Amino acid sequence: MLERYLMTDEQRDIVNMVREFADKEVIPMAKEFDVPGTYPEALVKKAIDMGLTTMSLPEEYGGMGLDYVTYAMVKEELSRGDPGFGTTIGASGLGFTPVKLAGSKEQMQQVADVLTNGGLTAFGLTEADSGSDAASLKTTYVKDGDSYILNGVKTFITNGGVASLYTIFATKDRTLGPKGISAFIVEAGTPGLSAGNHEDKMGIRTSNTTEVILQDVRVPAKNMIGEEGTGFRTAMLTLNNTRPTAGAGALGNAMFAYEYALNYAQERKTFGKFIGQHQAVGFMLSDMAIQLEAARQLLYYAASLQNAGIMAPRVFSSSKAFCSDVGMKVCTDAVQVVGGFGYSREYPLEKRMRDAKIYQIYEGTNQIQRVIISGEILDQLKKKKK
Ligand SMILES: Cc1cc2nc3c(=O)[nH]c(=O)nc-3n(C[C@H](O)[C@H](O)[C@H](O)COP(=O)(O)OP(=O)(O)OC[C@H]3O[C@@H](n4cnc5c(N)ncnc54)[C@H](O)[C@@H]3O)c2cc1C
Repeated sequence: MLERYLMTDEQRDIVNMVREFADKEVIPMAKEFDVPGTYPEALVKKAIDMGLTTMSLPEEYGGMGLDYVTYAMVKEELSRGDPGFGTTIGASGLGFTPVKLAGSKEQMQQVADVLTNGGLTAFGLTEADSGSDAASLKTTYVKDGDSYILNGVKTFITNGGVASLYTIFATKDRTLGPKGISAFIVEAGTPGLSAGNHEDKMGIRTSNTTEVILQDVRVPAKNMIGEEGTGFRTAMLTLNNTRPTAGAGALGNAMFAYEYALNYAQERKTFGKFIGQHQAVGFMLSDMAIQLEAARQLLYYAASLQNAGIMAPRVFSSSKAFCSDVGMKVCTDAVQVVGGFGYSREYPLEKRMRDAKIYQIYEGTNQIQRVIISGEILDQLKKKKK
């Protein structure tokens, strides 16, 4: 285990609580639910009862109001338990972030009522023809009296089939581009709202990922989040805000793989030595530890900037891209250390390697993170030259 130094007593208590839950309840169930790709409903309910889905909800709305660094630690521990499970809880945080960033007090209360009553939320931006290029989305909305009517299909929505409240992004006119997009709260049970089939995924198979279908879904006008036409901006602000904790998931998953490989290297013998004593293996483990430490420091730096209210898209994107690239590399190398047993489904590392891949894709692919970073650094260069 790579010790976290400089934790406060409160952080240590919270981290220990989540780690114990992960060790005792999440890790033992992971394989059973991963193989068929089943959503662990009872365990999610337990996490909800423990307050894990309201940790980042402000205190005035009944949550714990955790700061970003502590929440990153929680996300690491949950994903060390099981990345699909961490994704379920994390996506619920993603789902209500548009309201936290751009909504009214009444809307925050609406969200808080759902969360404190044991519900989950979901974030509905992606569509079959618009992932990275989110501004080209096709879901429409039209005003009708005191309501809006939404039509379209969202794709790959985490918690799509289990959420109680959705934040949905729709356009009133595609020719307006990003400026035509607005964001809406849509509560589960609204007529016309349904979930499609559960995706059969490579990894994070314990999370629920579905299409979300909107057929003449009527929502009250008060459910528009922020001003009309600001939905795309809200979506981008949301993803900017949640990127560091997406990276925290990748890190937690890789921590599990590293710890497993480290233990194995001290138990498995070849040529009369523990494999960790062969320099080639010892150095692989060292490289894993170096990369994990560096990723963690970048993550906590990004989250500290968030705590200080500093918007730093370059750092947030760097943190997400670096943590997830390190996560993929560490899981791949951990499989190598464990050899054939690493590759076998009987042991946990092949799952961790499959799980690691998603973090380079969702909440903005790592190519898109590099588009954001290069945009910012090249812009700085331009300004300097003027
Ligand atoms: C398991 C899972 C859960 C998800 N959960 C959610 C969710 O809860 N809510 C939600 O709204 N979405 C969700 N998504 C969607 C996810 O955010 C998108 O899949 C992702 O943004 C990529 O979009 P895409 O799949 O359409 O790929 P595309 O945008 O088609 O990209 C394909 C490839 O082209 C590259 N590419 C695209 N544009 C550029 C460019 N300008 N420069 C360089 N490279 C580029 C990409 O990096 C990628 O490698 C989820 C996806 C998955 C798989």
